[in-house]
Amino acid sequence: MIFKSAHYCIFVQNKSGMNTTEQVEKILADTNLSTELQNIAHKVLNGERITFDEGVHLYEHAELGYLGVLANYIREKKHGDKTYFNRNFHLEPTNLCVYDCKFCSYSRLIKQKEEGWALTMEQMLDIVKKYDGEPVTEVHIVGGVLPQYDVAFYSALFTAIKQHRPDLHVKALTPVEYHYIFKKAKIDYATGMRLMKEAGLESIPGGGAEIFHPEIREQIAKDKCTGQQWLDIHEEWHKLGMRSNATMLYGHIEKYWHRVDHMEKLRELQDRTGGFQTFIPLKFRNQHNQMSNVPESSVIEDLRNYAIARIYMDNFDHIKAYWAMISRETAQLSLNYGVDDIDGTLDDTTKIYSMAGAEEQTPAMSTKELVNLIKQVGRKAIERDTLYNVVTDFENVVFEEEKKPQYYKLPVVN
Ligand code: SF4
Repeated sequence: MIFKSAHYCIFVQNKSGMNTTEQVEKILADTNLSTELQNIAHKVLNGERITFDEGVHLYEHAELGYLGVLANYIREKKHGDKTYFNRNFHLEPTNLCVYDCKFCSYSRLIKQKEEGWALTMEQMLDIVKKYDGEPVTEVHIVGGVLPQYDVAFYSALFTAIKQHRPDLHVKALTPVEYHYIFKKAKIDYATGMRLMKEAGLESIPGGGAEIFHPEIREQIAKDKCTGQQWLDIHEEWHKLGMRSNATMLYGHIEKYWHRVDHMEKLRELQDRTGGFQTFIPLKFRNQHNQMSNVPESSVIEDLRNYAIARIYMDNFDHIKAYWAMISRETAQLSLNYGVDDIDGTLDDTTKIYSMAGAEEQTPAMSTKELVNLIKQVGRKAIERDTLYNVVTDFENVVFEEEKKPQYYKLPVVN
């Protein structure tokens, strides 16, 4: 019920004829609003940055309707009604992993090899070739960490993909893999990232960030790269003039201040480099992992979190929602709470969300479906490439008869 009434509240505001500035002013005219929340609303209206303590205050005290108005004000100031998506496919080399993150539903320890897969170079290139002639602009490569996937292997993979299809943007691996393979190769981060760039890497996705603060990270993701190492690798990548994304895994054992601490560290790095494009809050899902006893966050909390992220991360251009992880309906709602990007036209090529218990067990959505999803809630659908160049503005596009979507099955190592 709260969910419906909160959504209705935003819906009515949009239909009331008030622009987003008038909506914030209406909030400020509310005599019941606390001084702290009034000050934050003033800051948002004036384009000023909110502090760490104000971020925590929002999590602890702000209601969804208030947060939605402020986040939507910022979203529309930056992007109007534009909602971005890209056409990509995922390439997941392996789900075997030397690490044992407690929240991970995806990986299989090497001793559980019979439940996993590990693709060869040839198999990976075969998957890339299946998309020949398809209008995808990006391959997103991420998976488990195994010793055989080292600097030489990934360099050869990136180079082979670019040689086969130069127009396909290679977005690959996270600091978790990079830290591991560079350490094994005994090279520093700066050298390693330069080698990856020379091999064909074009951007880094946001994964592996989880929660940076060691108090939480050591409980849920012990042994893999630390929060500081994650930030250092992105910083080296940005120094090369390259772009990346950032995530935050929320809604498990962390406190609100850990989330703000996480966002603060990203905001600080972004002030120095400007290399981040998108911030992606990732909802913790509790199926088939070692944290199944931890309840999941509610949809209300998910929307509050998107909105606070939009308010706090003032130097990030984009806030993205993974529809495959939070459901199509929540993704639609999130467009009123600060989100301006919905990832992506996945072609059933990732198992990461479905294995964690997401509603979408075969996460495929055609371009037509995704465009309609965005248009249904009154936003404009813009296909972008990885670097947010506009590929197609779908405002006036009329779709032809849909082609049957392609699927491929991941091989299983026995
Ligand atoms: S989250 Fe990543 S690093 Fe951790 S166990 Fe899963 S695949 Fe391995």
